[in-house]
Amino acid sequence: MKDLHTFGWYAAKVAPHLPKSAFKPVPARLLGGLAYLLVTISGFLVIGLFDLNPIIYVGIAVVLGLCFAGMGFLGHEILHGTVVRKAWLRDLLGAIAFWPLTTGPKLWRKWHNMTHHQHTQDEEHDPDAWPSMNVLKKSAFLKWVYRLPFSVRAFFAFSSLAVQFTLHSARMFTVYLKEFNPKKRRAVWVEAILPWVSWIALLFLLGPVKWFFAFLLPLLIANFIVMCYISTNHRLNPLTPVNDPLANSLTVTVPKWVDVLHFNFSYHTEHHLFPGMSPKYYPLVKAKIKEFWPERYHEMPMTKALKALWKTPRLYFSENELIEPRHNKVFGSLGNGLDPENVSHRRVLEEQDEETISEDTSTIKY
Ligand SMILES: [Zn+2]
Ligand SMILES: [Zn+2]
Repeated sequence: MKDLHTFGWYAAKVAPHLPKSAFKPVPARLLGGLAYLLVTISGFLVIGLFDLNPIIYVGIAVVLGLCFAGMGFLGHEILHGTVVRKAWLRDLLGAIAFWPLTTGPKLWRKWHNMTHHQHTQDEEHDPDAWPSMNVLKKSAFLKWVYRLPFSVRAFFAFSSLAVQFTLHSARMFTVYLKEFNPKKRRAVWVEAILPWVSWIALLFLLGPVKWFFAFLLPLLIANFIVMCYISTNHRLNPLTPVNDPLANSLTVTVPKWVDVLHFNFSYHTEHHLFPGMSPKYYPLVKAKIKEFWPERYHEMPMTKALKALWKTPRLYFSENELIEPRHNKVFGSLGNGLDPENVSHRRVLEEQDEETISEDTSTIKY
Protein backbone atom coordinates (compact mmCIF):
# COMPACT_ATOMS: atom_id res chain seq x y z
CA MET A 1 0.00 0.00 0.00
CA LYS A 2 1.32 3.46 -0.85
CA ASP A 3 2.33 5.73 2.03
CA LEU A 4 -0.65 6.68 4.14
CA HIS A 5 -1.34 9.86 6.06
CA THR A 6 -3.78 10.69 8.84
CA PHE A 7 -6.75 13.01 8.23
CA GLY A 8 -4.98 15.61 10.35
CA TRP A 9 -2.01 15.58 7.95
CA TYR A 10 -4.25 16.34 4.97
CA ALA A 11 -6.31 18.87 6.93
CA ALA A 12 -3.17 20.80 7.92
CA LYS A 13 -2.15 21.04 4.25
CA VAL A 14 -5.59 22.16 3.02
CA ALA A 15 -6.67 24.47 5.88
CA PRO A 16 -4.40 27.43 4.97
CA HIS A 17 -6.06 27.57 1.54
CA LEU A 18 -9.60 27.92 2.90
CA PRO A 19 -11.35 31.12 3.98
CA LYS A 20 -11.65 31.72 7.75
CA SER A 21 -15.44 31.64 7.44
CA ALA A 22 -15.23 27.93 6.55
CA PHE A 23 -14.31 27.14 10.16
CA LYS A 24 -17.32 28.87 11.70
CA PRO A 25 -20.68 27.21 12.50
CA VAL A 26 -23.52 27.89 10.07
CA PRO A 27 -26.83 28.19 12.01
CA ALA A 28 -28.68 29.06 8.77
CA ARG A 29 -28.59 25.31 7.97
CA LEU A 30 -31.43 25.00 10.51
CA LEU A 31 -33.80 26.67 8.04
CA GLY A 32 -33.62 23.53 5.88
CA GLY A 33 -34.39 21.44 8.96
CA LEU A 34 -37.32 23.66 9.84
CA ALA A 35 -38.72 23.23 6.32
CA TYR A 36 -38.43 19.42 6.66
CA LEU A 37 -40.08 19.56 10.09
CA LEU A 38 -43.03 21.63 8.83
CA VAL A 39 -43.59 19.30 5.86
CA THR A 40 -43.39 16.30 8.21
CA ILE A 41 -45.99 17.73 10.62
CA SER A 42 -48.24 18.66 7.66
CA GLY A 43 -47.95 15.08 6.34
CA PHE A 44 -48.96 13.66 9.73
CA LEU A 45 -51.95 16.03 9.90
CA VAL A 46 -53.18 15.18 6.39
CA ILE A 47 -52.90 11.43 7.05
CA GLY A 48 -54.49 11.78 10.49
CA LEU A 49 -57.37 14.08 9.58
CA PHE A 50 -58.47 12.90 6.15
CA ASP A 51 -59.50 9.55 4.73
CA LEU A 52 -57.88 9.52 1.33
CA ASN A 53 -57.13 7.17 -1.52
CA PRO A 54 -54.24 4.84 -0.49
CA ILE A 55 -52.24 6.02 -3.54
CA ILE A 56 -52.18 9.51 -2.01
CA TYR A 57 -51.02 8.02 1.29
CA VAL A 58 -48.14 6.33 -0.56
CA GLY A 59 -47.17 9.69 -2.11
CA ILE A 60 -47.22 11.35 1.32
CA ALA A 61 -45.16 8.47 2.77
CA VAL A 62 -42.49 9.04 0.08
CA VAL A 63 -42.35 12.75 0.94
CA LEU A 64 -42.14 11.90 4.66
CA GLY A 65 -39.33 9.42 3.91
CA LEU A 66 -37.42 12.18 2.10
CA CYS A 67 -37.97 14.48 5.10
CA PHE A 68 -36.83 11.85 7.65
CA ALA A 69 -33.64 11.23 5.61
CA GLY A 70 -32.97 14.95 5.10
CA MET A 71 -33.36 15.59 8.83
CA GLY A 72 -30.97 12.69 9.52
CA PHE A 73 -28.29 14.28 7.31
CA LEU A 74 -28.77 17.58 9.12
CA GLY A 75 -28.67 15.76 12.48
CA HIS A 76 -25.29 14.32 11.48
CA GLU A 77 -23.81 17.75 10.89
CA ILE A 78 -25.51 19.31 13.92
CA LEU A 79 -23.95 16.64 16.17
CA HIS A 80 -20.53 17.37 14.68
CA GLY A 81 -21.00 20.89 16.08
CA THR A 82 -20.98 22.62 12.69
CA VAL A 83 -24.37 24.32 13.11
CA VAL A 84 -24.35 25.57 16.72
CA ARG A 85 -21.50 25.34 19.22
CA LYS A 86 -23.37 25.21 22.56
CA ALA A 87 -23.33 21.57 23.66
CA TRP A 88 -26.87 21.44 25.12
CA LEU A 89 -28.41 23.14 22.07
CA ARG A 90 -26.38 20.95 19.69
CA ASP A 91 -27.68 17.82 21.46
CA LEU A 92 -31.27 19.09 21.60
CA LEU A 93 -31.38 20.01 17.89
CA GLY A 94 -29.53 16.79 16.99
CA ALA A 95 -32.08 14.76 18.96
CA ILE A 96 -34.97 16.42 17.09
CA ALA A 97 -33.30 15.89 13.70
CA PHE A 98 -32.57 12.22 14.47
CA TRP A 99 -36.00 11.64 16.07
CA PRO A 100 -37.48 9.83 13.03
CA LEU A 101 -34.39 7.62 12.68
CA THR A 102 -34.66 6.95 16.45
CA THR A 103 -30.99 7.51 17.32
CA GLY A 104 -30.09 9.48 20.45
CA PRO A 105 -27.44 12.23 20.26
CA LYS A 106 -25.16 10.85 22.99
CA LEU A 107 -25.08 7.40 21.41
CA TRP A 108 -24.54 8.88 17.93
CA ARG A 109 -21.62 11.06 19.03
CA LYS A 110 -19.97 8.09 20.76
CA TRP A 111 -20.53 5.68 17.87
CA HIS A 112 -19.95 8.04 14.95
CA ASN A 113 -17.83 11.04 16.05
CA MET A 114 -15.62 9.36 18.62
CA THR A 115 -15.31 5.90 17.11
CA HIS A 116 -16.08 5.74 13.37
CA HIS A 117 -14.23 9.00 12.62
CA GLN A 118 -11.24 8.14 14.82
CA HIS A 119 -10.84 4.54 13.60
CA THR A 120 -12.24 4.58 10.06
CA GLN A 121 -11.76 1.25 8.25
CA ASP A 122 -9.91 -0.28 11.17
CA GLU A 123 -11.24 -3.82 11.18
CA GLU A 124 -11.20 -4.08 14.94
CA HIS A 125 -12.24 -0.60 16.08
CA ASP A 126 -14.51 0.89 13.38
CA PRO A 127 -18.08 -0.17 14.26
CA ASP A 128 -19.09 0.43 10.63
CA ALA A 129 -16.29 -1.58 8.94
CA TRP A 130 -17.14 -4.84 7.20
CA PRO A 131 -15.60 -8.10 8.35
CA SER A 132 -12.53 -9.90 7.09
CA MET A 133 -11.79 -13.62 6.86
CA ASN A 134 -10.49 -13.43 10.45
CA VAL A 135 -13.98 -12.53 11.69
CA LEU A 136 -15.69 -15.02 9.38
CA LYS A 137 -13.60 -17.85 10.84
CA LYS A 138 -14.98 -17.15 14.31
CA SER A 139 -18.64 -16.63 13.42
CA ALA A 140 -21.01 -19.49 12.69
CA PHE A 141 -23.63 -16.97 11.55
CA LEU A 142 -21.30 -15.33 9.00
CA LYS A 143 -20.20 -18.72 7.71
CA TRP A 144 -23.86 -19.54 7.12
CA VAL A 145 -24.46 -16.18 5.38
CA TYR A 146 -21.47 -16.60 3.08
CA ARG A 147 -22.63 -20.09 2.13
CA LEU A 148 -25.61 -18.49 0.33
CA PRO A 149 -25.15 -17.90 -3.43
CA PHE A 150 -23.59 -14.53 -4.22
CA SER A 151 -26.62 -13.12 -6.06
CA VAL A 152 -28.96 -14.11 -3.20
CA ARG A 153 -26.64 -12.37 -0.71
CA ALA A 154 -26.41 -9.24 -2.91
CA PHE A 155 -30.21 -9.13 -3.21
CA PHE A 156 -30.76 -9.42 0.54
CA ALA A 157 -27.93 -6.98 1.25
CA PHE A 158 -29.60 -4.36 -0.96
CA SER A 159 -33.11 -5.05 0.36
CA SER A 160 -31.78 -4.74 3.90
CA LEU A 161 -30.65 -1.18 3.19
CA ALA A 162 -34.28 -0.34 4.03
CA VAL A 163 -33.73 -1.42 7.66
CA GLN A 164 -29.96 -1.36 8.14
CA PHE A 165 -29.63 2.07 9.75
CA THR A 166 -32.29 1.39 12.39
CA LEU A 167 -30.98 -2.13 13.14
CA HIS A 168 -27.34 -1.02 13.30
CA SER A 169 -28.33 1.88 15.54
CA ALA A 170 -30.10 -0.52 17.94
CA ARG A 171 -27.02 -2.76 17.93
CA MET A 172 -24.75 0.22 18.64
CA PHE A 173 -26.92 1.02 21.67
CA THR A 174 -26.23 -2.44 23.12
CA VAL A 175 -22.50 -2.19 22.26
CA TYR A 176 -21.80 1.28 23.64
CA LEU A 177 -24.23 1.65 26.57
CA LYS A 178 -21.80 0.03 29.01
CA GLU A 179 -18.99 2.37 27.91
CA PHE A 180 -20.87 5.43 29.16
CA ASN A 181 -20.19 6.77 32.63
CA PRO A 182 -22.92 5.18 34.86
CA LYS A 183 -24.26 8.68 35.63
CA LYS A 184 -24.89 9.29 31.93
CA ARG A 185 -26.44 5.92 31.15
CA ARG A 186 -29.92 6.97 32.22
CA ALA A 187 -29.81 9.90 29.74
CA VAL A 188 -28.64 7.53 26.96
CA TRP A 189 -31.59 5.24 27.75
CA VAL A 190 -34.04 8.14 27.74
CA GLU A 191 -32.73 9.40 24.38
CA ALA A 192 -33.12 5.91 22.91
CA ILE A 193 -36.60 5.25 24.27
CA LEU A 194 -38.36 8.63 23.91
CA PRO A 195 -38.54 8.59 20.08
CA TRP A 196 -40.02 5.07 20.17
CA VAL A 197 -42.54 6.10 22.85
CA SER A 198 -43.71 8.93 20.59
CA TRP A 199 -43.93 6.70 17.49
CA ILE A 200 -45.85 4.03 19.38
CA ALA A 201 -48.19 6.72 20.77
CA LEU A 202 -48.76 7.79 17.16
CA LEU A 203 -49.72 4.18 16.36
CA PHE A 204 -52.49 4.31 18.98
CA LEU A 205 -53.56 7.73 17.75
CA LEU A 206 -53.74 6.91 14.04
CA GLY A 207 -54.42 3.17 14.01
CA PRO A 208 -52.15 0.64 12.24
CA VAL A 209 -52.98 1.46 8.58
CA LYS A 210 -52.48 5.22 8.82
CA TRP A 211 -49.43 4.66 11.07
CA PHE A 212 -47.88 2.47 8.37
CA PHE A 213 -48.05 5.38 5.91
CA ALA A 214 -47.13 8.07 8.45
CA PHE A 215 -44.18 6.36 10.11
CA LEU A 216 -43.21 2.81 9.12
CA LEU A 217 -43.05 3.19 5.32
CA PRO A 218 -41.30 6.60 5.57
CA LEU A 219 -38.82 5.04 8.02
CA LEU A 220 -37.99 2.27 5.51
CA ILE A 221 -37.60 4.84 2.71
CA ALA A 222 -35.37 7.06 4.88
CA ASN A 223 -33.26 4.05 5.90
CA PHE A 224 -32.77 3.20 2.22
CA ILE A 225 -31.76 6.76 1.30
CA VAL A 226 -29.25 7.23 4.12
CA MET A 227 -27.86 3.73 3.59
CA CYS A 228 -27.27 4.38 -0.13
CA TYR A 229 -24.70 6.92 1.07
CA ILE A 230 -23.41 5.06 4.13
CA SER A 231 -22.95 1.79 2.23
CA THR A 232 -20.84 3.51 -0.43
CA ASN A 233 -18.84 5.78 1.95
CA HIS A 234 -16.21 3.15 2.78
CA ARG A 235 -17.29 -0.34 1.72
CA LEU A 236 -15.50 -0.33 -1.66
CA ASN A 237 -12.31 1.01 -0.04
CA PRO A 238 -9.54 -0.97 1.66
CA LEU A 239 -9.15 -1.47 5.39
CA THR A 240 -6.27 0.82 6.34
CA PRO A 241 -3.68 0.58 9.16
CA VAL A 242 -3.51 4.41 9.16
CA ASN A 243 -6.76 6.41 9.13
CA ASP A 244 -6.15 7.93 5.69
CA PRO A 245 -9.42 9.36 4.30
CA LEU A 246 -8.12 9.53 0.74
CA ALA A 247 -7.43 5.80 0.83
CA ASN A 248 -10.35 4.62 2.96
CA SER A 249 -13.24 6.91 1.93
CA LEU A 250 -15.23 7.55 -1.23
CA THR A 251 -16.96 10.74 -2.27
CA VAL A 252 -20.01 10.04 -4.43
CA THR A 253 -21.51 12.54 -6.82
CA VAL A 254 -25.23 13.23 -7.15
CA PRO A 255 -27.20 15.91 -9.02
CA LYS A 256 -26.85 19.38 -7.49
CA TRP A 257 -30.47 19.48 -6.31
CA VAL A 258 -29.92 16.19 -4.42
CA ASP A 259 -26.89 17.74 -2.70
CA VAL A 260 -29.14 20.62 -1.65
CA LEU A 261 -31.78 18.24 -0.25
CA HIS A 262 -29.13 16.14 1.52
CA PHE A 263 -26.96 18.95 2.91
CA ASN A 264 -23.87 17.93 0.84
CA PHE A 265 -23.66 14.54 2.56
CA SER A 266 -22.13 13.13 -0.67
CA TYR A 267 -18.75 14.76 0.12
CA HIS A 268 -17.63 12.03 2.47
CA THR A 269 -13.84 12.13 1.96
CA GLU A 270 -13.96 15.89 2.58
CA HIS A 271 -16.06 15.22 5.68
CA HIS A 272 -13.39 12.88 7.08
CA LEU A 273 -10.72 15.57 6.59
CA PHE A 274 -12.80 18.23 8.32
CA PRO A 275 -15.63 16.64 10.37
CA GLY A 276 -15.98 19.90 12.34
CA MET A 277 -16.54 22.02 9.22
CA SER A 278 -19.95 22.82 7.77
CA PRO A 279 -20.53 20.69 4.64
CA LYS A 280 -21.50 23.97 2.97
CA TYR A 281 -17.75 24.46 2.39
CA TYR A 282 -16.88 20.95 1.19
CA PRO A 283 -16.85 21.92 -2.52
CA LEU A 284 -13.87 24.19 -1.65
CA VAL A 285 -12.13 21.32 0.18
CA LYS A 286 -12.78 19.02 -2.77
CA ALA A 287 -11.18 21.47 -5.21
CA LYS A 288 -8.03 21.60 -3.04
CA ILE A 289 -7.82 17.80 -2.62
CA LYS A 290 -8.12 17.36 -6.39
CA GLU A 291 -5.42 19.96 -6.90
CA PHE A 292 -2.97 18.45 -4.37
CA TRP A 293 -3.59 14.68 -4.57
CA PRO A 294 -5.61 13.87 -7.70
CA GLU A 295 -4.14 10.36 -7.96
CA ARG A 296 -5.22 9.43 -4.42
CA TYR A 297 -8.75 10.83 -4.44
CA HIS A 298 -11.74 8.53 -5.05
CA GLU A 299 -14.94 9.95 -6.52
CA MET A 300 -17.71 8.44 -8.62
CA PRO A 301 -21.43 8.82 -9.29
CA MET A 302 -23.61 7.26 -6.59
CA THR A 303 -25.24 4.92 -9.14
CA LYS A 304 -21.87 3.56 -10.26
CA ALA A 305 -20.79 3.06 -6.64
CA LEU A 306 -24.00 1.13 -5.89
CA LYS A 307 -23.49 -1.09 -8.95
CA ALA A 308 -19.90 -1.81 -7.88
CA LEU A 309 -21.21 -2.60 -4.40
CA TRP A 310 -23.70 -5.09 -5.85
CA LYS A 311 -20.99 -6.85 -7.87
CA THR A 312 -18.35 -7.19 -5.14
CA PRO A 313 -18.41 -9.44 -2.05
CA ARG A 314 -18.48 -7.78 1.38
CA LEU A 315 -15.68 -9.72 2.99
CA TYR A 316 -12.06 -8.61 3.19
CA PHE A 317 -9.46 -11.20 2.23
CA SER A 318 -6.64 -8.83 3.09
CA GLU A 319 -6.64 -5.11 3.81
CA ASN A 320 -6.70 -4.32 0.08
CA GLU A 321 -8.74 -7.20 -1.31
CA LEU A 322 -12.25 -8.59 -1.04
CA ILE A 323 -13.08 -12.25 -1.39
CA GLU A 324 -16.06 -14.30 -2.51
CA PRO A 325 -15.50 -17.35 -0.30
CA ARG A 326 -17.82 -19.67 -2.23
CA HIS A 327 -15.56 -19.64 -5.27
CA ASN A 328 -12.37 -18.21 -3.75
CA LYS A 329 -12.56 -15.29 -6.17
CA VAL A 330 -10.50 -12.30 -5.05
CA PHE A 331 -11.49 -8.73 -5.98
CA GLY A 332 -9.49 -5.50 -5.62
CA SER A 333 -10.67 -2.52 -3.58
CA LEU A 334 -10.64 1.15 -4.64
CA GLY A 335 -7.06 2.18 -5.36
CA ASN A 336 -6.06 -1.47 -5.36
CA GLY A 337 -7.20 -2.81 -8.72
CA LEU A 338 -11.00 -2.43 -8.47
CA ASP A 339 -12.32 -0.97 -11.71
CA PRO A 340 -15.86 0.33 -11.05
CA GLU A 341 -16.48 0.52 -14.82
CA ASN A 342 -15.88 -3.18 -15.24
CA VAL A 343 -16.05 -5.06 -11.95
CA SER A 344 -14.57 -8.54 -12.07
CA HIS A 345 -12.39 -10.68 -9.84
CA ARG A 346 -8.65 -10.30 -10.31
CA ARG A 347 -7.68 -13.89 -9.41
CA VAL A 348 -8.90 -17.18 -8.03
CA LEU A 349 -7.08 -18.51 -4.99
CA GLU A 350 -4.80 -21.49 -5.49
CA GLU A 351 -4.76 -24.35 -2.97
CA GLN A 352 -1.56 -23.13 -1.27
CA ASP A 353 -2.97 -19.58 -0.98
CA GLU A 354 -6.01 -20.97 0.76
CA GLU A 355 -3.84 -22.69 3.33
CA THR A 356 -2.28 -19.37 4.20
CA ILE A 357 -5.68 -17.90 5.10
CA SER A 358 -6.26 -20.31 7.92
CA GLU A 359 -6.24 -23.93 8.88
CA ASP A 360 -9.93 -23.44 9.52
CA THR A 361 -10.94 -22.61 5.94
CA SER A 362 -12.20 -26.15 5.36
CA THR A 363 -15.34 -25.05 7.18
CA ILE A 364 -16.15 -22.50 4.52
CA LYS A 365 -15.42 -24.65 1.44
CA TYR A 366 -18.40 -25.86 -0.49
ZN1 LIG B 1 -17.44 7.80 7.33
ZN1 LIG C 1 -19.48 12.33 10.43
